[in-house]
Amino acid sequence: METRLLINGERVQGQGEAIAVLDPATGEPVTTVNAASVEQVDAAAAASSAAFDTWSHTPPVERAAALLALADRMEAASDDLGELESIDCGKPLASARADEMPLSIDVFRFMAGAARTQTGSAAGEYVADHTSMIRRDPVGPVAAIAPWNYPLMMAAWKLAAPLAAGCTVTLKPSELTPLSTLAFADALADCLPPGVVNIVHGDGHSVGDQLINHPETEAITVTGSPATGMAAMRAGSEQIRHVHLELGGKAPVIVCADADIDAVVDTIRGGSYFNAGQDCAQPCRIMAHASVYDRLVAELQNQIATVKTGSQREDGVEMGPLISAAQRDRVAGFVERARASCEVVVGGETPDGPGFFYPATVVANVDNDAEIACDEVFGPVVTVSRFDDIEDAIKTANASRYGLASSVWTQNVGLAMRLCSRLRYGFTWVNTHGVGTPEMPWAAMKGSGNGCDMSVYALDAYTAIRHVMVAH
Ligand code: NAD
Repeated sequence: METRLLINGERVQGQGEAIAVLDPATGEPVTTVNAASVEQVDAAAAASSAAFDTWSHTPPVERAAALLALADRMEAASDDLGELESIDCGKPLASARADEMPLSIDVFRFMAGAARTQTGSAAGEYVADHTSMIRRDPVGPVAAIAPWNYPLMMAAWKLAAPLAAGCTVTLKPSELTPLSTLAFADALADCLPPGVVNIVHGDGHSVGDQLINHPETEAITVTGSPATGMAAMRAGSEQIRHVHLELGGKAPVIVCADADIDAVVDTIRGGSYFNAGQDCAQPCRIMAHASVYDRLVAELQNQIATVKTGSQREDGVEMGPLISAAQRDRVAGFVERARASCEVVVGGETPDGPGFFYPATVVANVDNDAEIACDEVFGPVVTVSRFDDIEDAIKTANASRYGLASSVWTQNVGLAMRLCSRLRYGFTWVNTHGVGTPEMPWAAMKGSGNGCDMSVYALDAYTAIRHVMVAH
């Protein structure tokens, strides 16, 4: 397994502390990866800064060619990368390969095209005898911080857009899940000039903190928890930096009286327990109209009890363990505290045995202000509450501190459109949930962050608008 970092085009062993990488299905170490030392983070930031002048002036067609080459390399190594991802995160192998790799690859391909679409929006004489033009130029070297839930896909999102925009990047994967990103670093070294991408390893409070506060970092992009987003905002405020955040979510699923309940149940079965529920867009906060509430809870009870949990290569496994013992205990804590006021209708018991497993769980009769309805659990837990008046459902959904994913379920097109216009969420699906594509923004509002990943709008975080005026 590749454990070396990538700094200025060279693969180097970290000189910092050794961090064990565990297999979440067994809790046993797979390998150890040494973190970057303070000097190595400095070297990565300096390399990123030095490479910026050239990369930012590399014609879009050449940046696009590099991104396409990266996509080809990822595709060629897709089975191996998917396997590493599965070992590192405990995901079912088939899902790591078939569900995550194609989107990770396609983001590089999409951004290769996007790199060639950037234009300023005006040119003309707005003051007599002066010609103005608007340029959109790369902001500078970017510090990118990625989470553990989809390590390589999040690395792809954090790399492809800034590279397309003409920025250089120093990326830190999560200290829990560095393996796929470190394996892909050979391709990054081969397809890009030295320093354009650097990969460092280490935990958030040491290496991550140094990176986002580094004087040579000119923009920060984080996918992670709200706490890390706040740390990035603080770092940005110290040096006045661009900060782009994709943080946690608590997706409401508003099920109206005329909804197709079978479709809702299918989507929850497939989507809420995918990746063991460790998904920022997870459909987790089900709000059902009182007229369909009982049927929905009964069908969820039947369906969710059959979700097959197991280790990566088990036959027919649908859901793996959680990422760590701490995450499993955190999830179990939410469910235990909810018992006093809610009803756990499926799951809810931590199993004995090795690994960080927790069962697919449904909690019903949940008040809208209950902790488990309001906070991000980030595990295989779904809550169900009821509403009588759709206005109450909208108010409850909009009162959430989060603003990432949401969905509405109704056969009434007018009602669906009205709900979409009222919900304050970065994305709203109608009669589906969780479907993403690189052409469309993965957008955040409120406490879930700002801006977006994917789509041409992702380039906004990495570019600045400039005015050039020529007197004549
Ligand atoms: P986390 O915030 O604990 O860690 C994310 C990354 O931030 C890691 O690399 C970590 O080392 C680093 N980090 C932590 N503290 C830091 C600091 N002070 N300075 C710099 N870096 C620091 O999040 P996680 O537990 O890895 O991921 C789960 C969270 O990510 C959830 O809240 C989830 O919703 C969110 N997430 C959001 C999206 C999205 O697109 N909005 C996608 C995936 C995950």
